[in-house]
Amino acid sequence: MQMSECIFCRIVKKEIPADIVFENDHILAFSDIHPQSPVHILVIPKKHVARLMDLSEEDMPVIHEVHKAVQVLARQRDVHQSGFRVVVNNGANAGQAVDHIHYHLLAGRQFSWPPG
Ligand code: AMP
Ligand code: ZN
Repeated sequence: MQMSECIFCRIVKKEIPADIVFENDHILAFSDIHPQSPVHILVIPKKHVARLMDLSEEDMPVIHEVHKAVQVLARQRDVHQSGFRVVVNNGANAGQAVDHIHYHLLAGRQFSWPPG
């Protein structure tokens, strides 16, 4: 896929609207359009990386920032103590639908395990 066609790259470029809840030079977080829980936020690197398996050594600092953003957002939504789930779907068997790596931050209800 061309980066110009990638829906999350287009959100990064503000070409299509999103409910942006956190942004810095390297990462963006926005509400999932089909929330699966009361809190459902996607945290993405602004750089187009299709899948977790495509992350290179030079991309790792941004993953550090993703984790910091998850902490900030969990505190902001007051779910840092009640609990939350962070999910990265990678590839077909995981059901990855958008080929731009994204971290789902899910919270606000009880989740079951194992996942479906
Ligand atoms: P995944 O199945 O892990 O690839 O998740 C893709 C997620 O992106 C789904 O939860 C979708 O609801 C979400 N999504 C797709 N398009 C948009 C959009 N334009 N704005 C916000 N979330 C989106
Ligand atoms: Zn992209």
